[in-house]
Amino acid sequence: MNIHEYQAKELFRKYDVLVPEGHVAHNASQALSIAEQIDGERWVVKAQIHAGGRGKGGGVKVTDQVEEVGQLADQLIGAPLVTPQTGPNGRTVHRVLIEQAQDIAHEYYLSLLIDRASQRITVIASDAGGMDIEQVAANTPDKIVREAIDPAIGLQDFQCRKIANGIGLRSKQIHALTGMLKRLYRCFRDSDAQLLEINPLARLDNGKLVALDAKMNFDDNALFRHPDITDLRDFDEEDPKEVDASGHDLSYIALDGDVGCIVNGAGLAMATMDAISYYGGMPANFLDVGGGASPEKIANAFRIVLEDPHVKSVMLNIFAGINRCDWIAEGIVQAIRDQHIATPVIVRLAGTNVEQGKAILADSGLNYIEANKLDDAARKAVAAAKGENA
Ligand code: GDP
Ligand code: MN
Repeated sequence: MNIHEYQAKELFRKYDVLVPEGHVAHNASQALSIAEQIDGERWVVKAQIHAGGRGKGGGVKVTDQVEEVGQLADQLIGAPLVTPQTGPNGRTVHRVLIEQAQDIAHEYYLSLLIDRASQRITVIASDAGGMDIEQVAANTPDKIVREAIDPAIGLQDFQCRKIANGIGLRSKQIHALTGMLKRLYRCFRDSDAQLLEINPLARLDNGKLVALDAKMNFDDNALFRHPDITDLRDFDEEDPKEVDASGHDLSYIALDGDVGCIVNGAGLAMATMDAISYYGGMPANFLDVGGGASPEKIANAFRIVLEDPHVKSVMLNIFAGINRCDWIAEGIVQAIRDQHIATPVIVRLAGTNVEQGKAILADSGLNYIEANKLDDAARKAVAAAKGENA
C-alpha cells in the first residue's frame, strides 16, 4: 500500500526526522490559511498524488507571495496532473501540501528498501539526488552507495559513516546523517515498510539535512498489525474495480486489453494471460477467484470484469481442486442471466465435479462457448474478442 508524501512526512516527524514545516490542504482557503501560519518568505505548493515526477509535470510550485498560495492550490486541486509516472490521462489532484520553501545547497538521493537477493533492508544513497535514480544507476553506477543491514544487530555507526562518505558529506553532516539513518531504519522496520524513499534529501544553505520529498510503501500482508497506517489508505488513488474486488476477496488487477479473464489460482491466471497473448489477444485483467469460490463470488467476478467497457469477450478458466465446477457453473448461470450478459463467454472447466458443472451449464439454455483445454479456450476467447467465429 502506498501513502501520500504529506502522510509519510507526518510519520517522519514522529521519528524526529527533519522535514519542512507544512500541512495538507483540501481547498484554496485552507491552503492560504496554512501558508499564513508558516514562517518564511517563500512557500511551496505540492500536488499530492501517488506518483512521482510531479516537479516535471508542474505539480510543485514555489511562490514568494503568500496571497498566491490559494490560487496555486486552486489551479492544482480538481485538475488532472500528468507526470512521467501517471500515464497520459494523469491523476486527479484532491489535496495539496503547503510547505515552507527551503534554500537548497545540494540534493541527495536516499532510500531504504527490502533487497530480495540479500533478504535484508538495504540503504541506497547517492550524491546525484533530485533526478531519476534509475537513470543514475544506468549511466553512473559508481555514484550509488549500497549498504545491507544485518537484522540481528541493526544499522551500525560505521555503515552510516560509510554511506555519508560515499555521498561526499563532511564532518557535521556525517553525524546528522547517522542520526537520521538510524531513525529512518526504525521507522521502516516498525511499520513493515517495503520502500522508503527521500528524493531529494536536501543539504540546506544553513547546513541542515532535510527530507524534501517522502515516499513510503508498506507490505500489504503486514497491514493487519498497523491499523494507524491502514487508515492512511486513499481510495481515490486506486482503481475502483480493484477496491470493489478486494472487498469480495477477489484478486483483480486491471490491464489494457479486451479479453476479460476469470481464473482460479494466480499461476493459472498468469498462464491464461500468456495463452491469450500467444493467440494474438490482450488480457483486460488479471483475476484470481481463489479456492472454494461460491456462485456469488463468480457472479461478482463477472460483474467487475464487465465493468471495464473495453472487454469484448470473457474467458473463464477453472481447474478445480478445492473449487467445485458445479458451484462455478451456478455462478456463471446466475451472472449471465441476472446481469443480461451479451458479451461472448468462453468456459473451460476441469477437475472436481466437472460433469455436474457442464450439465448445469447445458441445462441452463443460456448462450456460452464451451472449450476443453487452456489453448482451445484462449484461441476461442481471442477470436470472439475480434468478432470472429472460433
Ligand atoms: P517529485 O518531482 O514528485 O519527485 O517531487 P519532489 O518533492 O521531489 O519535488 C520536485 C523538485 O521540486 C525537487 O527536486 C526540488 O528541486 C524542488 N523543490 C521541492 N521543495 C522545494 C523547496 O522547498 N525549495 C526549493 N527551492 N525547491 C524545492
Ligand atoms: Mn522527488
